Amino acid sequence: MVTRHPRSSPARSYTGVSTQFVLSRTAQILGVHPMIIGVLGTGLAVGLMTLMLDAVQMSLGDATVLALAVTLGVVAVSASWLLAFMLREQVSKETKLRRLSSTDPLTGLANRRSLELHLAQEWDKARERGSPLSVLFIDIDHFKRFNDTLGHAAGDEVLIAVAHCVQRVARRSVDFVSRYGGEEFVVVLPKVTAEAATAMADAIRTEVQSMKLPLLTGKDQCITVSIGAATCDPDEDFAPTRLVEAADAQMYAAKMAGRNRVCAVALSKAAVTT
Ligand code: GH3
Ligand code: MG
Ligand code: MG
Repeated sequence: MVTRHPRSSPARSYTGVSTQFVLSRTAQILGVHPMIIGVLGTGLAVGLMTLMLDAVQMSLGDATVLALAVTLGVVAVSASWLLAFMLREQVSKETKLRRLSSTDPLTGLANRRSLELHLAQEWDKARERGSPLSVLFIDIDHFKRFNDTLGHAAGDEVLIAVAHCVQRVARRSVDFVSRYGGEEFVVVLPKVTAEAATAMADAIRTEVQSMKLPLLTGKDQCITVSIGAATCDPDEDFAPTRLVEAADAQMYAAKMAGRNRVCAVALSKAAVTT
C-alpha cells in the first residue's frame, strides 16, 4: 500500500512563502526600524488629508471630497502601521533564528559554525595588521567517566561550568570562546603571541582544576583539561582551519603526555604550507 504524506495545497504554501519572502526582503531592503514605516506612513496620510481638505475648502464644503480624504487617510495610516507591525515581527523572527543557528544551546557559547565564520574574519584582520593569531583547543579529561558515574545531567553541568571557566580567563572583548563539539572548546585569541597563548592556556587549565562543584563530592574529584595551543602570523597561502588542526594536534599531544597539561606550537609559513 502506498502511504501518502499530507501536503498543504500549492496555493496556500505559495502564498505563505511569498508573503514571508516579501516581508523578509522588504525588511532587508529598508534596513531601518520597521516602526519608521508606521511613522512615515502616518505623515504621508496626514499630508494627503491636508491636501484634500484644501480642495474641500476651495470647492466650498464638498462633503464627498471630505469623506474621501478622511477614508484615504484612515486607510493609509492603518496600512502603514499594519506593515510596520508585520515587518517588526519578521525582523525579530530572523534575529532569533540567526542567534539560534550560531549558539550552542547548552552552554550559550558560540557554536562551531559561528567559530568558522569568526576565525575567517579574524584571520583577515590579523593579515591586514600583520599581528599574530592564536587558537586554543580544550578537551575535558576523562569526561565520559563523569557521565558514567554521575549521569548525563551532571555531565551537562560540568560542561557549563567549564565553559564559564574558559570565559573568565579569555575575557578580552576580542577573545572568542566556542563549543567545538562534545566536551571540546576552541578559543580564538587575536594579537596573542605563542608565549602569551601558552600562559593563557595554563591559566584556563588551573582555573578548571581549582573549580569547586557541589556535584563533585569525592575528596580528590576534580575536573581537568588538556589544552593545545597554536599560533601563527596569518599568510595568504595558509588556510585558517590549519590553525585549529594544529591546536587539536597539540591537545592530542597533551593527552598522550598524561593529560591536565598544555602543549603549544608556533607555526611558520613553511610548516603549514607543506
Ligand atoms: P579523554 O580524556 O581522552 O578526552 O577522554 P573522554 O572520556 O573525555 O573522551 P571520550 O571521547 O571518550 O568521551 C567524550 C564523552 O563526551 C562521550 C560523550 O557521551 C560525552 N558528551 C558529548 N557531548 C555531551 C553533552 O552535550 N552532554 C554530556 N553530558 N555528555 C556529552
Ligand atoms: Mg574529545
Ligand atoms: Mg575528553
